[in-house]
Amino acid sequence: ALLHAFVLEDAASRGDKPALIDGASGRTVTYADLASGVERVAAGLAARGFGPGDVFGILSPNLPEYPIAFHGVLRAGGTATTMNPLSSADELAHQLADSGARFLLTVPPFLETAREAADRAGVEEVFVFGEASGATPFAELMGETSGAPDLSGLDPREALAALPYSSGTTGLPKGVMLSHRNLVANVVQFEAVDDATPEDVLIAVLPFFHIYGMTLLVNAALRNGQTVVSMSRFDLVEFLQLMQDHKVTKAFLVPPILVALAKHPLVAEYDLSSLQRIVSGAAPLGEDLAGAVHKRLGCEVKQGYGMTEASPVTHFVPADVQNWTKYGSVGPVVAGMDAMLVDVDTGEEVASGARGELWVRGPNVMRGYLGNDEATAHTLDADGWLHTGDVAVADADGDFTIVDRVKELIKYKGYQVPPAELEALLLSHDSIADAAVIPVPDEEAGEIPKAYVVLKPDHKMSEADVIAFTADNIAPYKKVRQVAFTDQIPKSASGKILRRLLVAQDRGA
Ligand code: ATP
Ligand code: MG
Repeated sequence: ALLHAFVLEDAASRGDKPALIDGASGRTVTYADLASGVERVAAGLAARGFGPGDVFGILSPNLPEYPIAFHGVLRAGGTATTMNPLSSADELAHQLADSGARFLLTVPPFLETAREAADRAGVEEVFVFGEASGATPFAELMGETSGAPDLSGLDPREALAALPYSSGTTGLPKGVMLSHRNLVANVVQFEAVDDATPEDVLIAVLPFFHIYGMTLLVNAALRNGQTVVSMSRFDLVEFLQLMQDHKVTKAFLVPPILVALAKHPLVAEYDLSSLQRIVSGAAPLGEDLAGAVHKRLGCEVKQGYGMTEASPVTHFVPADVQNWTKYGSVGPVVAGMDAMLVDVDTGEEVASGARGELWVRGPNVMRGYLGNDEATAHTLDADGWLHTGDVAVADADGDFTIVDRVKELIKYKGYQVPPAELEALLLSHDSIADAAVIPVPDEEAGEIPKAYVVLKPDHKMSEADVIAFTADNIAPYKKVRQVAFTDQIPKSASGKILRRLLVAQDRGA
């Protein structure tokens, strides 16, 4: 199946049921609006000669119309390259040129930057949600009611549905070629471990441009007839208010939001009793923190794991598992995938219970990186294994725990210290609001772990207190050896610690 057809299979028949609601304004897109809007966008694009092989850039915060644009591009036979609104004009120009985008859709506040990038990349026409001079209103693109093309000749295995870029945590973001089949497969794999019902109300604070939001909210949720309340940016008060007002039942979140849910005093002032489950993904979540959120809110707290290259979900704690308390684990590998843990030095599978690099294989694994055969060859081997770059361990039940990225392990003397483990420990301290750990070069040890710590207001800790706290709670070789106090830890739009930025800041300091 083609992704949009699969996602929208029942959309028209769901009629006036809200598919998406804009959290800030209450503006609603019904399932009927979604179904007809997608046809209209495709007709408008076809009238402009846009079709199979063509790429369309979407640079927008979460808005209820976003999925109309996304699936409309696919319905026209094209590929959507979704863009991070926090990107600079340079980064946008790079993505537009790299992907060969013919058109770009944005929102008025981003238009100036978008226009600059579009001009540099040779984009033919810029559209905006709403109105702004210098761009075509999206409504105009939706002017035609018929004329969406016949796509029966399009091969779901070959044709690219989406071209998201990886988060750029470890290097430059890479264009990830995801076919219709890749993305459909991942919705099916996710549905097998989920318990979606049309009564569910989800909150969309994950950005739609990132693969986690794309697959779970723009694809799976809309296929299943759920209602998605969208937020265009994260604000804790607004988030809590929307969860309460809309009686949100399930929330896909990232660890920084769980930090707030565990620690922020405001959380106690809202009625979140409708919330059945929180799923955390995209970055490491400490066991203690997950347990603290469960204790405070009473809902289930589970994790999923994945990466852009796998569309993204490869591991997920199944919804039907009751009383789950293995908070540090991301659960078993999803159906239709193989997973193994490999010794990075020898390339051999590790003994059971040992740590190794996680390799996965299945129908949701990307076709490759766009225009980067070297990176593709480095990540996808001849047998179809995707080398995730993450170190993991599996227990006797087949549940996996992600230790850290191979690249981010801190090399202290002969040892490997995972910063994620230290961060989880630091966050379990009552006086610590947030923390990140980076490697600092050291003549004697090679590298030592240095912690950046944000203290809670009115709490005091010295550098020695922080070091002693880690030394008391972890194997001695892993303890933090330097500490800096700061106001904020830099994080990406997908909730990841921007460790490279912090390292650069530290070297400059
Ligand atoms: P780049 O590949 O450009 O450096 P990135 O790897 O951060 O960026 P994404 O595809 O957004 O780009 O993220 C996938 C990565 O996120 C995984 O490889 C893993 O390191 C991390 N991740 C995702 N889910 C989890 C999880 N539950 N626990 C720990 N880490 C996770
Ligand atoms: Mg990656």
